[in-house]
Amino acid sequence: MKIGIDLGGTTVSMGVVDDNYKILAEAEFKTADCRTPEQLSSIVIDGTKKLLEDNGISKEKITFIGMGCPGEIDTEKGIAVAADNLPIEKIPFAKMLSETFGAPAKLDNDANCAAWGEHMAGVSKGYKNVVTVTLGTGIGGGIIVDGKLLHGKENHAGEIGHMVIDIHGKRCGCGRIGCWETVASTRALIKEVEHQARYAPNSRLGKLIAANGSHANGKTLFIAMSEEDNMARSIFNDWIRSLEVGMWNVINIFRPDMIVISGGISKEGENLLAPLRHAVGKCSTLIRAGRLGGNAGLIGAAALDEMNI
Ligand SMILES: [Zn+2]
Repeated sequence: MKIGIDLGGTTVSMGVVDDNYKILAEAEFKTADCRTPEQLSSIVIDGTKKLLEDNGISKEKITFIGMGCPGEIDTEKGIAVAADNLPIEKIPFAKMLSETFGAPAKLDNDANCAAWGEHMAGVSKGYKNVVTVTLGTGIGGGIIVDGKLLHGKENHAGEIGHMVIDIHGKRCGCGRIGCWETVASTRALIKEVEHQARYAPNSRLGKLIAANGSHANGKTLFIAMSEEDNMARSIFNDWIRSLEVGMWNVINIFRPDMIVISGGISKEGENLLAPLRHAVGKCSTLIRAGRLGGNAGLIGAAALDEMNI
């Protein structure tokens, strides 16, 4: 049995998996209120202890512990160096976990873990060259080349959301202009939906958003489209075009066997994938939605011992 831990800005989830990456037990704890590295470390360590205790699993049965963290990671030393939304200051998680549970431990970036999870136990299992595109507040990437995660210098590879696709575009959080995620992330889509609906309150989309306290989400748009709202369709088509531009850049650079689309909006399945495949056109690269959903990071972390770096 192995343990996978997926640390995020609001929660940390941990699970015990068997050799086939089936989740046998899992738990989740809040991290949003953590103010110091000590508090955060104890939530991770004590939470993992509690997971084992609550499920009657002795630590002697654990053969490996893997953990995915946001931000900057030193994978060689197993240290979480820094992160934007969490009080991380050089926390030696691998050492702490290994000493507490008596098994080897490894750390990697959260987006890499999600990509690795789909590769080891999800939709891209068996494919050697895969790029995972995670659509959310930004666009995250996990790149697998010849069956290995691409880490790059200081683990900074895979920032596909920050490739510039419009030099006259909008300012990105990273400081540059016209990054892919400024126009093609889920957040960019929702912002555009809210913006346009403000000027058309009587449209189907406008009414749906008004009924939802003036807030849109991915679902609102798909509901309006299913009711043949022209404005919703036009916003969606523009967004698909922005996604397509970046997808082709990814395809031209890596020519992967598969691009895995993950993030909450991937739950829309073919409503999202079919137009995207159509936009990308003739290309042998498969475009699929992730299969493991929110568990991809946890499962990928538990599988980090199967990667030779
Ligand atoms: Zn950027």
